[in-house]
Amino acid sequence: MTDTSPAATTGDDARSPKISFVSLGCPKALVDSERIVTHLRSEGYEIARRHDGADVVIINTCGFLDSAKAESLQAIGTAMKENGRVIVTGCMGAEPEQIRESFPNVLAITGPQAYESVMAAVHEAVPPKHDPFVDLVPPQGVKLTPRHYAYLKISEGCNNRCTFCIIPKLRGDLVSRPVVDVLREAERLVKAGVRELLVISQDTSAYGVDLKYQSGMWKDREVRAKFLDLSEALGEFGVWVRMHYVYPYPHVDDVIPLMADGRILPYLDIPFQHAAPSVLKAMRRPAHQEKTLERIRKWREICPDLAIRSTFIVGFPGETDADFEELLAFMTEAKLERVGCFKYEPVDGATANDLGLPAVPDDVKERRWHRFMAHQQAISAKLLQRRVGKRIQVLVDDSAGTAAKGRSQWDAPEIDGAVHLTSRRPIRAGEFVTVKIDRADAYDLHGTVA
Ligand code: SF4
Repeated sequence: MTDTSPAATTGDDARSPKISFVSLGCPKALVDSERIVTHLRSEGYEIARRHDGADVVIINTCGFLDSAKAESLQAIGTAMKENGRVIVTGCMGAEPEQIRESFPNVLAITGPQAYESVMAAVHEAVPPKHDPFVDLVPPQGVKLTPRHYAYLKISEGCNNRCTFCIIPKLRGDLVSRPVVDVLREAERLVKAGVRELLVISQDTSAYGVDLKYQSGMWKDREVRAKFLDLSEALGEFGVWVRMHYVYPYPHVDDVIPLMADGRILPYLDIPFQHAAPSVLKAMRRPAHQEKTLERIRKWREICPDLAIRSTFIVGFPGETDADFEELLAFMTEAKLERVGCFKYEPVDGATANDLGLPAVPDDVKERRWHRFMAHQQAISAKLLQRRVGKRIQVLVDDSAGTAAKGRSQWDAPEIDGAVHLTSRRPIRAGEFVTVKIDRADAYDLHGTVA
């Protein structure tokens, strides 16, 4: 076997224990993975590129939907076959029986956010080198995302109880990080060259509720652990700040002026999930469609450049044809820039399964999903046409010299559209460029560096 891991190429490092790491799931899980990898590197472990030849494999699993669980089990299976020494962590680790049933010989199973237990399991499986390479870790930690953007996790868990969601069962109630901790991490990331901070959590707008908004001293002034105050403070770093997973509480309105002033990006990732009041009520989500449309109108009045990203679920138990038509009518009115749609999955343990509401047949779900996507595609294509002929700022994500792919302020990495661009001079990933938009399709923009 040829070991291609970096450790194999340097004499001394060849003796470092090697860990192969698989990160599955959402950006929140990616942040957990970054933390674990940072711990490992700080103790002198090397990260191997392949299972084969590693001393142990860690799989950070996702257990949100049944399809994600299946993917996690498959990844565990591959690691067991190729290596045989496997530690499982992450959301699926909260349900160890399911994993043990298929893979009784995994070395250890730990739940989400259990860094200490993961590290203890690693120490038991493969003890660290006597002299840890503490200085191998750059001050900003080890990031699995490209160097120019980073996810900033501000809290864990959620106090809401949406009936389709098992995250509170897996991760518990909201626990916010102290505000100074968050700002210190943001500062370290910016100093290390990060140009865009993506603020994530399960419920970003609830930040600090559990801390009773306890303030901390930051640069000679007090900052409260509160969504608005944190947004203001992050806005002072002079990089792009993007807000994800914002629950539609009334106080969200307060951050829109910061977006209008260009202090944080005019981008709001706010999952509405549905528009029909009866479905929203069964989901245990805010159920005032009229008010939601009115709020969106007001937000756009204050910040005309605002891009709203949202996600929706079709085929929730009890969703009627009329409910679905109401959802489409809402989409027509709301004209949201970026939209994702899921077909309802009866996730094990979700309260929605016990509401006594009739399940929507799979073929109906499928039809509704296709109609929803086609409906929104037409809206998205029309909205993107507005950008044609304009000059916009783009952050370059990938570059092949004079052809590159980047994003505007209205697009988050991995989930939204892209700006495909050409330039007369070579450009690098992480650069900001001004691009003249020549054309648009349903999801992406195309242009030339001005
Ligand atoms: S707000 Fe989000 S994480 Fe919290 S219960 Fe609802 S869907 Fe789940």
